[in-house]
Amino acid sequence: MAEIKEITILIPLYNEVAVLPELINRLESLMVQTKLEIDVMFVDDGSTDDTATIIQRAIFDKEKFSAIFLSRNFGHAKALTAGLANINEATDAVFIIDGDLQDPPELLENFAIKMGEGFDVVYGIRNKRKEGYFKKLSYKYYYRLLKQFANIKIPLDAGDFSLISKRVVKQLNSLPEESRYLRGLRSWIGFNQCGIEYDRDKRNAGNSKYGISSLFKLASNGIFNFSELPIRLIGMVGFTTIIISIVYLIIILFKKMFFGTVPEGFTTLIFAIVLFSGVQLFSIGILGEYILRIFFQVKQRPLYIVKSKILRGKVINE
Ligand code: UDP
Ligand code: MG
Repeated sequence: MAEIKEITILIPLYNEVAVLPELINRLESLMVQTKLEIDVMFVDDGSTDDTATIIQRAIFDKEKFSAIFLSRNFGHAKALTAGLANINEATDAVFIIDGDLQDPPELLENFAIKMGEGFDVVYGIRNKRKEGYFKKLSYKYYYRLLKQFANIKIPLDAGDFSLISKRVVKQLNSLPEESRYLRGLRSWIGFNQCGIEYDRDKRNAGNSKYGISSLFKLASNGIFNFSELPIRLIGMVGFTTIIISIVYLIIILFKKMFFGTVPEGFTTLIFAIVLFSGVQLFSIGILGEYILRIFFQVKQRPLYIVKSKILRGKVINE
């Protein structure tokens, strides 16, 4: 692969006033220290605080900074999609990081060296999370579950933090998927990929923008977008149930014929009804997850709407 010289750092931001000044400082000192040519692309994901104003003020007339302002909050993955679609032509690779400095931008050089060894995707593997016990544990088991389920190999404990080559960006941009599980799509694209371990820091300031419900959505996107196992599971559960009931029937008939009548309990009946109603509802729910994704996809709506852009210091209104 050609040498990596120009890198765009892509950062989605949603209500991040608390970290922005520190973020910009760290980026600017990184630009001074490194030999790499760096430019920065912020995506304001419809923030309702002063994030947009601060970005505008901070980057106005700065050649090395660009920003895209979305018309409302579209969510992390779509903000990244908007950023990737507007990357500078001259860029060799895109470094995706979170705005809250949980992914240290200073690791860029290590990632770039690895890419220089012939990798198109270098992703960060979190070896220590400085987060709550519950969050840590659920992440850990989620990724292991996903690995069992998914049709493609999605690396364990890897998030969106990654350096991706220009040709991977091009492929990502050409994928029309509505529900974007970026770390899955990135694996799906292929080429040579490898991970680098790093300690994921605590959020620098402000609060996590992922509530339980959006984390759940992200997690289910991972499973339902990349696996057909849940839908197959319905069939398997149904089949097993039929087998069990046939065996049960044979036992009862056997008892009836050879030992006379057997008083069969009311409890068993209720139990069976409740259990199988549960199984049915659960199965319908799984079907629903897939149908929902078809529903959103067939509408062919744009993934995001851009309100305005500042490209390399110049304001462009849509
Ligand atoms: N983010 C975004 N849109 C959203 C939610 C989050 O652009 O709707 C950004 C956020 O500003 C941050 C990154 O995505 O830069 C990761 O979010 P956060 O740190 O809240 O997630 P966590 O690290 O808690 O998973
Ligand atoms: Mg964070």
